[in-house]
Amino acid sequence: MTNQTLFRDTYREISLYSPNRTPAAIDLSDNTNRWGVPPKTAALIRNLALESITRYPNLYVSGVKEALARYLSVSPDMIVTGCGSDDVLDSTIRAFGAPEDKIAYPSPSFPMIPIFAKMNGLIPVSVELNSANPPFDIDPKTVLGVGAKIVYLCSPNNPTGTPLSRAAVEQIANNTDSLVIIDEAYAEFADENFLDLATTRSNVIVVRTMSKAFGLAGLRIGYAVGNPEIIAEIEKSRGPYKVNIFAEKAAICALTEDLDWVNEKIVEAKVNRARLMSELMDMGFKPIPSQANFILVPINNATEVDRQMRALGVAVRPLPDLAVVGDALRISIGPWEMMEECLKILKKVVG
Ligand code: PMP
Repeated sequence: MTNQTLFRDTYREISLYSPNRTPAAIDLSDNTNRWGVPPKTAALIRNLALESITRYPNLYVSGVKEALARYLSVSPDMIVTGCGSDDVLDSTIRAFGAPEDKIAYPSPSFPMIPIFAKMNGLIPVSVELNSANPPFDIDPKTVLGVGAKIVYLCSPNNPTGTPLSRAAVEQIANNTDSLVIIDEAYAEFADENFLDLATTRSNVIVVRTMSKAFGLAGLRIGYAVGNPEIIAEIEKSRGPYKVNIFAEKAAICALTEDLDWVNEKIVEAKVNRARLMSELMDMGFKPIPSQANFILVPINNATEVDRQMRALGVAVRPLPDLAVVGDALRISIGPWEMMEECLKILKKVVG
């Protein structure tokens, strides 16, 4: 038997991330781009010379930073990339949080945050989102009262799809010396974003990903934008060679040659989101108005409903017993035929 004294205390409470990944004909469970891979990027990946993979990738993928800088109208030294935004979040927490420091994060929100906190020895402290006035906004006083070294916010928030108010986010950013991370994994689908705070405040960074709107989840490319000094610290913590050769080339191609396709699909996702919302309301559900590429639908027995839907060929994400919401299903937005099939199967299961 292994000597348990070898293990870090905080790691005992960590389990592997294990959402139900049982394959289904239509998978609406992970908010990836259900239209597919951008076409020019797909062609480039198919034709990449195999010999390129005998060499290491570019250390900190300067070409990706330049392409992102042009896309966002910021300078390249304001950008750090990573192996998915997961890696960027983890590296940021490690760079700025010492063991025993606190990280404040909303509940419900992205479930990896307390896990990354514990992996790095930090103490995660959840702050429940408002239930009303307006719902799912964050209370700045409660967040500031935590005395955290790092504040994590997510807008539009996963899994609710709701944006945080500018007033609340600015009140937090203006009244703390903590590092404020704003996770904008779904920014492309929202009416507003907080990039301006990352470019004007020295304690705010925005974290984004190419896994959602850009259709490249399998290649793992995420990034953060912020003050160059903060960004340099994250880059130290992230380490070299984290973005592989395929990801590097695909990211640059998607950002330079496939933007029209990406933007077209974002528009289509928004149209389908409104349509799905109204169909769900017609069925008697109370879906939460979303600014992301998914909709959260409060429903009883979410886990069992997902199990039955999956068996009939449509996977969604069951989220049992969420703070503020209760049981719910999160449905990713995709082409309308997928939405129709999802509605049909949902009707069959809930009667
Ligand atoms: N942040 C949020 C809010 C997410 O929903 C996700 C993915 N589900 C991530 C970060 C991580 O995305 P990735 O590592 O693929 O960039």
